[in-house]
Amino acid sequence: METTERWHYWLPVPDRTGFTWHRHAFRGKHWDGRSSATSVCGVRCAMAKPSELDWFQAPTCSECTELLIAEQCGDGKAEQSDTGSAEGER
Ligand SMILES: [Zn+2]
Repeated sequence: METTERWHYWLPVPDRTGFTWHRHAFRGKHWDGRSSATSVCGVRCAMAKPSELDWFQAPTCSECTELLIAEQCGDGKAEQSDTGSAEGER
């Protein structure tokens, strides 16, 4: 069974100052331990293993959220072609 849906995962990362954390979305199934990556909203982030507190405190990035919602609504991209009734799937 092929899945053409794009994977993404969320990870809390510090911004450039290191004081403010945001939970950004990244492409991929899960964080593979890399030290940096570019988020869905286009921010290059230094990544580190977040603590439970980081997860708790970091607010979810609204830009990432909006972009992912737009993608899942099927704007523009026609990759998921012949499954017309799969819209509720996660
Ligand atoms: Zn973001």
